[in-house]
Amino acid sequence: MSCGWCGGTGGSIVLPHTRICGPCYRRRHYHPAPCPGCDQIRPLAWPDAGGRTICADCAGHPSIFACAQCGREDHPYGHIRCARCTLHERLTALLTDPATGDIHERLRPVFDTLLGGERPQTGIYWLMRGKRIGPTLLAQMARGEIAISHDTFSDLPMDRSHNYLRDLLVAAGVLPPYEPLLERMIPWLRSLGEPLSEHHARLVNQYARWTVLRRLRRQAQDGTLSKGVFQAARSQLRRVVGLLSWLEAHDRSLETATQADLENFLASQPKSVGSELTRFLTWARQTGLNTALTTAVAARPAPQITMSDADRWEHVATLLHDDRIRLYTRIGGLLMLLFAQPLVDICRMRTDQVDVTDPGGRVLVTFRDTPIEMPEPLGALVHAHLDQRGQASYASRGNGWLFPGGIPGRHLVTENIRSQLVARGIRPHSARHAALFALSAQIPHMILAQTLGISSTAATRWAALAARDWGGYIEQRREQIPH
Ligand SMILES: [Zn+2]
Ligand SMILES: [Zn+2]
Ligand SMILES: [Zn+2]
Repeated sequence: MSCGWCGGTGGSIVLPHTRICGPCYRRRHYHPAPCPGCDQIRPLAWPDAGGRTICADCAGHPSIFACAQCGREDHPYGHIRCARCTLHERLTALLTDPATGDIHERLRPVFDTLLGGERPQTGIYWLMRGKRIGPTLLAQMARGEIAISHDTFSDLPMDRSHNYLRDLLVAAGVLPPYEPLLERMIPWLRSLGEPLSEHHARLVNQYARWTVLRRLRRQAQDGTLSKGVFQAARSQLRRVVGLLSWLEAHDRSLETATQADLENFLASQPKSVGSELTRFLTWARQTGLNTALTTAVAARPAPQITMSDADRWEHVATLLHDDRIRLYTRIGGLLMLLFAQPLVDICRMRTDQVDVTDPGGRVLVTFRDTPIEMPEPLGALVHAHLDQRGQASYASRGNGWLFPGGIPGRHLVTENIRSQLVARGIRPHSARHAALFALSAQIPHMILAQTLGISSTAATRWAALAARDWGGYIEQRREQIPH
């Protein structure tokens, strides 16, 4: 039988006055129009007395467009049931928790959101399209096979399919809002450990996920996650990788690194690195990976240079040549300006630290382990001092102090030399810093630590400072060498 509307073959759908074909039925169903009888948007298929086409209700007939399940004409889908009923059925199958036989309690909002959408057809399409990545994950969540959480997504690719489902869960209120900036950190984190050994890469990843990401997520939820906070976190992680790479290059691991290793590393880094590593090292301590490392020392403000190298050499020249100044003050000041010795240590020096027995006439002074040759004319001054020293008070002589004090058995008090130096414009604190700065630029800090008895920590800090300004120092040095 032919179609009463288009004249084509296959008029299989029965209307009271005619039969119509499938395509004509679908065209009417999918393109509802204002009914001339009631002004409602409806599929129109029935003739009225005036020859107009009207809706089923106005015509007083059962609708051929009604869903077999819910009776509604909107959202056509297939022949029997509407899209909403179809979606309802498919979502029920997808989201049923086998433990209760009902829609999974936490996923109920997803069910309601998808079903309440403007176009249930879209939901059906989503359930069917592509590899069904989102629907498959939802089903796994409903069955309790994977956690309904952001962490689940952290381990999955960040493609459109996964992002869509995640956004859906957030929109439905199943998951708290998340920060896309933060989520982009996940793939970045995977590549973060690439320069590292497998062991260190795993540690970095662990640290990043369990502490850094967690902290940032908490801040995102509190609304306190700023771009600055985010960037600082990334920078800190880069510093961690820097430290671990350095340790690997020095045949160390996070577990075997010593505080000295850490300080050596920091000496080669910008000043801020110490504080940037504080969180990581705290974590390493708390997890027992390494309880020895701390940036408490390194985090101190960088030393200040208040005396220029030119001033320093001028003071050296004064002390070398001005014999109006007491000899012990000149020697003490020179040991400070040239070898960065603290006054308190200079005053405590013993005669056995000075060796004048060298047949070549050299004067050797041992500050710590290694004898150091005193440059001339300082060597001559030390010689002269030792000769004079014989005249010191008898009671102090036997104690072996290089600078015997006025009080029997005691060495010279620091203030004695200090006040004389200050009177000539030499501030011991600045003088020693200037010396440390200059020496650090010339001498490897390990040697500095061994020969001058400067603590490894201090030497490292000064070396870092000197390395930073090394270029400028060379220029200055070239012009300022004393004659
Ligand atoms: Zn037709
Ligand atoms: Zn009508
Ligand atoms: Zn229906």
